[in-house]
Amino acid sequence: MLKTHNCGELRSDHAGQQVTLAGWVHRRRDQGGLIFIDLRDRWGITQIVVDKATNPDAHSVADSARSEYVIQVTGAVRQRPAGAENTDLPTGGIEIVGTDITILNASKTPPFPINREDFVDDESKMAYRYLYLRRPEMQSNIVLRHRVVKFMRDYLDKRGFVEVETPILFKTTPEGARDFLVPSRLNPGQFYALPQSPQQLKQLLMVAGYERYFQIARCFRDEDLRGDRQPEFTQLDLEMSFVQRDDVMAMIEGLMTAIVREVAGREPKWTPFPRIKYEDAMEKYGSDKPDLRYELAAVDITELAGKTGFPIFVNNVAAGKPVKVLRAPKMGLRSGMALRKLAEELEALARSAGAKGLAWLALPETEEGEVKGPIGKYFTVDQKLELFAQTAAEPGDLLLFISDERDTVYRIVDTLRRHLAQELNLIDPEVLAFAWIIDFPEFYWNEEEKRWDPSQHLFTMPMPEDLHLLDTDPGKARGSQYDLACNGYEVAGGSIRIHDRAIQEKIFPLIGLTLEQAKEQFGHMLEAFEFGTPPHGGLASGVDRLVMVLAGEKNIREVIAFPKTQQGADIMANAPSEPEPRQLEELHIRVVHPEPKKQP
Ligand code: ASP
Repeated sequence: MLKTHNCGELRSDHAGQQVTLAGWVHRRRDQGGLIFIDLRDRWGITQIVVDKATNPDAHSVADSARSEYVIQVTGAVRQRPAGAENTDLPTGGIEIVGTDITILNASKTPPFPINREDFVDDESKMAYRYLYLRRPEMQSNIVLRHRVVKFMRDYLDKRGFVEVETPILFKTTPEGARDFLVPSRLNPGQFYALPQSPQQLKQLLMVAGYERYFQIARCFRDEDLRGDRQPEFTQLDLEMSFVQRDDVMAMIEGLMTAIVREVAGREPKWTPFPRIKYEDAMEKYGSDKPDLRYELAAVDITELAGKTGFPIFVNNVAAGKPVKVLRAPKMGLRSGMALRKLAEELEALARSAGAKGLAWLALPETEEGEVKGPIGKYFTVDQKLELFAQTAAEPGDLLLFISDERDTVYRIVDTLRRHLAQELNLIDPEVLAFAWIIDFPEFYWNEEEKRWDPSQHLFTMPMPEDLHLLDTDPGKARGSQYDLACNGYEVAGGSIRIHDRAIQEKIFPLIGLTLEQAKEQFGHMLEAFEFGTPPHGGLASGVDRLVMVLAGEKNIREVIAFPKTQQGADIMANAPSEPEPRQLEELHIRVVHPEPKKQP
């Protein structure tokens, strides 16, 4: 090794020892006869001091070193003089008196500072990924990720799970996204699909008798990217045989609680994790992955609203549309102008989520005062009192009214709720609020295609008591799906699977597949179901997203070493890029440019 110790390791009791350290010049301060270098490696920072009077050669090398140079330093560990200790650094009690310094590699001036948390634009973060990854915050995210994954492996290994790798070159594995296709050179005109998840393969491992499988699996979904999505991402994928819904949920709840306690050194907001029915989550929070660090639940006032004199409510209620209220505590305590401006801003936000407007009402500061807001006049005194009772409103609160098609109401509630929580400072970044969402519908109606879409995927078993609804009223059937939400993100999802060919065959026509198409795509599954398939179920947890939540990051890219941009590109390595014509020929592919590329 080119070093005897790392830069986070030395303490006062090493004083007097001769050591060699190697790393990056984090900071250099030239004080004439003395040069101080903060030397950084993955484990920390150690101060080096070089004295011109006693070590002129080392001093002249130190003099030429610049930020991010890679150097090797030999010298003695010295207790820092009293008053010169740096209590911010674990190594801050000592320094190394550098007697021999070698520059192992020079560095150009980096495009952004590594030694400060300054803002870095997205493009530079990606183009110089290896420099961005050098930043201590990023190193700590990547190490956290390593710890989480290692913990998962150990935890599951102790409980009898076997890690099995499944192929990346495979066949379409529908999870509701577009596939990435890979042309097969050996089979002209044919393509592999990269797995959207190992769903079929893990089920086949259950047929194969493995009983407890897991994999840290890479999944590929060609969809539009957002802050919490990447085209390729990592799942903890898991499947168990001879289980019911509660068994899988208990296994994952145990794992997540242990990760929070033992890896993150924190405590979940609550254990056991609450279980919320999908319908209740949508009705109260407008989301199937609600952020429960705060409550801010919508209150349904449909019945009351229908009796008021406000024509929009009355008409909507008559047409079967709900009316809901979000109560923003003390947000009504603003002067007339400021209140109207706030209402306009909130209305603009609601409109971005599909609202046609946003009615509001502000309660006065004292009981004698008048309510403010355009719709107060449509409520009788008794109706106002009833409204305040139903919404538990207090003086100074702002009530926001949302009424539209049910799905639109959900979207607006979700959008306003997240915004209000920020504005009202209700989010404690230290809190991790996990909750299970259960009793999803088995299907959603796809109006465009006039068919049902599976709400999870086509292998999800309907709840046993709802099986008969597949024949009569599929929209009412609940699936055995369970999702785990944490702080507004879905961090895991799974279900008990269909293990019976006859039930599986009932799903296909409902989702618009003929039996022939289904056999072509999933014939291997149907056939496997005829060879002694155990009842089974499982789940997958997005590792990137989970680590993002644990690290308190808002963008998934901050916990992925080499992520893609919003356009799905790696601008460091320039991928995707055009292949050589010869490669295309071998693959029997001709590219039809929508517009021929202009030659420079
Ligand atoms: N394959 C599912 C997914 O990736 C998870 C599961 O059902 O196990 O979302």
